[in-house]
Amino acid sequence: MSIGLMETLEKYVGRRDGGTRSCPYPVNEAMIHHWCDAIGDRNASYLDPEFAGTSIHGGIVAPPTMLQAWTMPGLRPVVPTPPVDAPEKSVLQVLDEAGFTSVVATNCEQEYFRYLKPGDRVTHDVEIESVSDEKATGLGVGHFVTQLYNYRDADGELVAQMRFRLLKFRPVAARDTASDDRPVVGPRIRGGRPRPSLNQDVSFFWEGAARGELLVQRCSECRSLRHPPGPGCPNCSSLEWEAVAMSGSGEIYSFVKHHHPQIPPFEPGHPVVLVELDEGPRLVSELASEDATRTDLAIGMRVEVQFDEVEDEFVMPRFRIVTPREKGTE
Ligand code: ZN
Repeated sequence: MSIGLMETLEKYVGRRDGGTRSCPYPVNEAMIHHWCDAIGDRNASYLDPEFAGTSIHGGIVAPPTMLQAWTMPGLRPVVPTPPVDAPEKSVLQVLDEAGFTSVVATNCEQEYFRYLKPGDRVTHDVEIESVSDEKATGLGVGHFVTQLYNYRDADGELVAQMRFRLLKFRPVAARDTASDDRPVVGPRIRGGRPRPSLNQDVSFFWEGAARGELLVQRCSECRSLRHPPGPGCPNCSSLEWEAVAMSGSGEIYSFVKHHHPQIPPFEPGHPVVLVELDEGPRLVSELASEDATRTDLAIGMRVEVQFDEVEDEFVMPRFRIVTPREKGTE
């Protein structure tokens, strides 16, 4: 690491980074409605003017967690990015130029000082709270940057703050010598495949797989099947459930071929399938090795589970494609 870079980065700490971003539109009921629809929040203080009028707010308020929505520039920003009054390079640009071109967000905390109401115009500015020394991480070598976003109303009063921490890192260029000679750019997963994180909700699934059983949760109250596993029934809210074995037959409901970002040990073009089991539940899964390179994958193909030890003592249910039985063969 060059000493010069850290000195440059430290100059940013405690200072504003970039200019002030204004909101393209004032806080408004239409956007609040869309957001509540998307999130599934039916809070009457956000949606029902009559109720909200009788509440302590005296009218509609915006969900506090919409904070970022008000100053986001949008997919095709009409406001210039970075803002025209930005005095110099941003700290992220400095890191880009030093080769730390990849970014991953690591933490986000928001604090709200008052509810926003329709008509409020929000601006934000960003202060660099800290920049770490160079750190070696699983993704690569990089610097953690903590940005403090200050959100203000039209009177300049602070209405909320957000601390956003990200890692700017140098992408690892490595060679996947195990399978081919193509350079692999991006994070490498040490020790092979990512393993499922086991807890009391999901352990049964993997324990079943190790025994050669494809288990799905069934609600003890309403008997509905559900997957992926979770503590409560989305249908009746019961917390009682049992694990039941599926036949393992189903069809490809949908699939994607994953190319980018490359994530070893998975090959580029690795198919990820959503299988609809004959019993109803859908599972995200993989295809058996011999089917993974097929070029004729199609929605509706019949599949059957098999249990593969994909790595030492790690058994994964995967699906192989089966040709439908032709009429009259039985
Ligand atoms: Zn239920």
